[in-house]
Amino acid sequence: MPNLRNIAIIAHVDHGKTTLVDAMLRQSGIFRENATLVDRVMDSNDLERERGITILAKNTALFFHDTKINIVDTPGHSDFGGEVERALRMVDGVLLLVDASEGPLPQTRYVLQKALAAKLPPVVVLNKIDRSDARAAAVLDEIYSLFIDLDATEDQLDFPVLYCNAKAGAAHREPEGPAAGKGTLLPLFEAILASIPSPVGDPEGVLQVQVTNLDYNDFLGRIAIGRVFNGTVRRGSDVAISKLSGALVPAKLTKLFTFRGLERDEADAVICGDMVAIAGVEDIQIGESITSLENPAPLEPLLVDEPTLAMVFTVNTGPLCGREGTLVTSRDLRTRLTKELLTNVSIRVEDGETTDSFRVLGRGELQLAILIETMRREGYELLVGKPEIVVRNAGGRKLEPQELLVVDCPETFIGILMEGLGTRRGEMVKMVNHGSGRVRLEFRIPSRGLIGLRSQLLTDTRGTALIHSIFDGWIDYGGEMALRPTGALVADRPGASTAFALWNVQERGEMFIGPGVDVYEGMIVGENAREADMDVNITKEKKQTNMRASSADEAIRLVPHRDLNLEQAIEFIADDEYVEITPKTIRLRKKILDSKKRPRRWQQIRASQEVKAE
Ligand code: GDP
Repeated sequence: MPNLRNIAIIAHVDHGKTTLVDAMLRQSGIFRENATLVDRVMDSNDLERERGITILAKNTALFFHDTKINIVDTPGHSDFGGEVERALRMVDGVLLLVDASEGPLPQTRYVLQKALAAKLPPVVVLNKIDRSDARAAAVLDEIYSLFIDLDATEDQLDFPVLYCNAKAGAAHREPEGPAAGKGTLLPLFEAILASIPSPVGDPEGVLQVQVTNLDYNDFLGRIAIGRVFNGTVRRGSDVAISKLSGALVPAKLTKLFTFRGLERDEADAVICGDMVAIAGVEDIQIGESITSLENPAPLEPLLVDEPTLAMVFTVNTGPLCGREGTLVTSRDLRTRLTKELLTNVSIRVEDGETTDSFRVLGRGELQLAILIETMRREGYELLVGKPEIVVRNAGGRKLEPQELLVVDCPETFIGILMEGLGTRRGEMVKMVNHGSGRVRLEFRIPSRGLIGLRSQLLTDTRGTALIHSIFDGWIDYGGEMALRPTGALVADRPGASTAFALWNVQERGEMFIGPGVDVYEGMIVGENAREADMDVNITKEKKQTNMRASSADEAIRLVPHRDLNLEQAIEFIADDEYVEITPKTIRLRKKILDSKKRPRRWQQIRASQEVKAE
């Protein structure tokens, strides 16, 4: 199909992807046709920005003269690895966008590696060339090194380079050009057309469509998004769905859409090479294919990542429930999780032990944290338990998932890093010294070992470590891992925390709250330096004895408390604890609030040590 190109964009958040796609749309005339389009088309949401990754793959299409260019966004984290592979399956080349002063960052490494392994030809865009600290030549060298490191082929190393000022909508083949902001993106369009092959296929051939994404809308129901690999898909036609199980199920395609800008246009027919959105096939799944009913030629199904981590989501049973959120019942939770399943294929939901709880399975801590954060912003309140690893049984053996972990950090931290990973059963498999003061270490580590690892490594390396992991198969279950070595400081009564009480308690460990915070019995207010939990009165007022004592008030010096974010809170909790999430607050609590009914944590630890000693 000579008039089509399909490309995926690989970029670190903030390197200018939105700005560039925006400018490409503008210059391709899509904006003029439809002036109501908002300015920032592929804009990433807050969650993506905070975490430096793209979460959702989105599609855009634009025209350069009479050639249609479909652009697929790629997620930037290995928790979304399945999504990355499916996005890359849609395209015939990639556009690697790199900030000309920051250079390539490890978050994009995973996707780039997958793209190179899939033999996709790259076009490299060095963006923000107008920045005073741009260092295009050095960054280009870094990109070559990265490509070589990722086993790029000779052909892939021969990539075209565009020097770009996306803000000004200018691209040049030479580094000097766009700094002044003159010019257009013409050289970029030309490079895409010249270097990315057009899709092959026979429009008259047997129909083959692979479904790589799902969408949902109240009017149309489930919408399958995919690429037509062969033949022509026609509205109203009778087709066969090749299920993941291998079965062929007849279906009728009631509505078809193609992409234009960020909009979708209804279409009568979509020919091979192009992307299509199909409504009316209710139970179609990602990875399945659509083919001819009379003469079926199904495509190899695409596998979706197996979940490796599970977390219990349950209703907020705490005394402060409903203060900040509006969606708090188990029915609210069930409806929301069911809706998530319609489009998020890498998540599974099972009923929990009680009617109020659900077991949510996903690919990693980050993926589940993003779901929780999204729900919280939508007004939900809920409790979540400690993440547990999904184990499997195969031939009488208990198996657990393993990851390949890559840590990039200054060499001064090697010692502390090795120590931290050793206790998590990480085994080093490779160490590369760039000679730049930074080293890259690779480990094999049980997925369990990753829970809480990110924040620990960031603390250990003063925020300088870059951490990345990829699912690496199933290994024999390695037995229990050490529990959190510390206990919790637990409020023993409801009320508001006081500076005086905090001052009394702070020497025991690290506080998670400041003064004037509403607490309840069983709420965790800090981390005990010892392994036992400790009940504390955090609401105590200073007795007004005599005038002189007031000078002692000035002696109250509070150590700043540690505010835990969602991921840190999830990483902190032990088996008998929950994170309480509301739209405004993240609290930690014991599962059993009543201190008289609560088994002591140190007793549990002692008991498990005795078992080991036997
Ligand atoms: P994304 O997260 O990759 O989509 O990045 P954005 O397109 O949102 O851009 C991030 C920031 O970089 C924004 O403030 C842009 O205005 C800015 N930006 C994008 N392209 C350029 C450029 O070529 N030069 C400069 N100086 N800034 C740019």
